[in-house]
Amino acid sequence: MSVLRNQDRFLVCLITAAGIIVTTKDTQDAGWSFDNSFMQLPEAFFSRTNPEPVKHAVKVLFNEDLANDLGLDVDVLRSSGAQVFAGNEIPPGAAPLAQAYAGHQFGHFTNLGDGRAVLLGEHVTPKKHRVDVQLKGSGRTCYSRSGDGRAVLGPMLREYIISEGMYSLGVPSTRSLAVTATGENVLRNLPLPGAILTRVAESHIRIGTFQYAAALGDKNNLSELLKYTVARHYPELPNTPDLPFTFFRAVLDKQASLVARWMFVGFVHGVLNTDNVSIAGETIDYGPCAFLDVYHPETVFSSIDHQGRYSFEKQPMITQWNLARLAESLLLVCPGEQDKSVEKFVSILETFSESYETYYQHGTNAKLGLRNQEKEDAILYQDLLDIMKFSQADFSSTFVALSHALENEHADPVLMKMSGFDNWVQRWRERLSHESSLLPEIAKRMRSVNPVIVPRNLQVEEALAEAESGNIEPAQRLLGVLQAPFSETLENELYRKGAPPGSASYCTFCGT
Ligand code: AMP
Ligand code: MG
Repeated sequence: MSVLRNQDRFLVCLITAAGIIVTTKDTQDAGWSFDNSFMQLPEAFFSRTNPEPVKHAVKVLFNEDLANDLGLDVDVLRSSGAQVFAGNEIPPGAAPLAQAYAGHQFGHFTNLGDGRAVLLGEHVTPKKHRVDVQLKGSGRTCYSRSGDGRAVLGPMLREYIISEGMYSLGVPSTRSLAVTATGENVLRNLPLPGAILTRVAESHIRIGTFQYAAALGDKNNLSELLKYTVARHYPELPNTPDLPFTFFRAVLDKQASLVARWMFVGFVHGVLNTDNVSIAGETIDYGPCAFLDVYHPETVFSSIDHQGRYSFEKQPMITQWNLARLAESLLLVCPGEQDKSVEKFVSILETFSESYETYYQHGTNAKLGLRNQEKEDAILYQDLLDIMKFSQADFSSTFVALSHALENEHADPVLMKMSGFDNWVQRWRERLSHESSLLPEIAKRMRSVNPVIVPRNLQVEEALAEAESGNIEPAQRLLGVLQAPFSETLENELYRKGAPPGSASYCTFCGT
């Protein structure tokens, strides 16, 4: 960095009434370009709230690639970003607020809101891409209820690792820009080290935001929210009286595509409450989520999901249920008779299965190396899943082994051990003969969609345990490996293996 630049970074500090230190010059240099369009919505949707300063902000992880993509100055953020990421400094142009929303949590409606997060604002990148920058774990807000507004280091690192893993897998997801330790303990069952996640998202508008507006019963609020959301995420939709329906159809399509993608990589979100469903179609709120090791359709990792409401196989169905809650909320702004609107929403909602099946079939065919679509393909895929379930096969490794099987004379011993595989593989090979490509080409195609690397539960846990005891290197190594999930390399060999069948079942916690 030039001398001139360093002089230019002379700090101008202001201490606000709330005790927040605002440094203008330095943070400006980081390249922030905040705009705060969410604040144009009626006041019911947010509450202006500054983050609560922390004792000792220390950078734990900083996503330089993402910072670069956002047009931010990596050098500046590397040296002084922790103060912004911990909420001790507010960058110029930011206007922090906590958002109001509601949600069905495990089927029960509750008013919620950002109880431990603030939106710094929307950063507009040099390419004019608008993203929310949110601090999660930044202290109490008026929506905190009995919570302390804080977050714990382990779960924030977990969200960072898994969300970045999802991004590399090509699954739409919020991103993680930084995890910053606060130097303060947070009391859970035990005192645990506190941390703040800097989250970047297309937006934080959720199905629950619409539910909140509908519950207020104010038509104008809901209509403003709808207009705002359409302008931000679905600008292609024409502004006609049918907007609630066309919007609903568009959101439904994005959700169908998203949940299908989870199913291809074996991702279990774990807490698909309506407040955790992003209208922009990104995976959001990484609480008790985890990836399948051994395949079983009923897999649940979350310690509190006793009924299996959010199990792997139920994710499409529960997504449709969540969408029904969005439709209900939109009724308030529908023109004409309510019965007619309900009928219209129901008929759109019924297209979910077809929309999901189309995405699912396309993706599962690709997993098997099939480009064309034939009538029996869905059965072929399902039969493989049944064999995997019976044999307790590892989800990700099985598909990788299948791609290898096309190029090797000797079939993979793990595959051969699966009861019923002999017969299935003959059907698959027969089906592959209808494709116009040669086997090595098909194998290559399969490798481009079947990840070798996913964030494996035990590896994530090991990295977190090390980080909690002060060694961040394993987490950094894991993050490096997760960036290239479709290549088999020497570096990632140790990261490919899943937990063996019969291992103690993995359990995740919302405890954050
Ligand atoms: P989540 O389980 O992260 O989706 O959060 C559900 C609701 O609980 C949201 O309104 C959160 O803001 C709120 N919440 C979660 N943890 C805390 C906390 N430690 N303090 C205050 N509110 C919280
Ligand atoms: Mg949530």
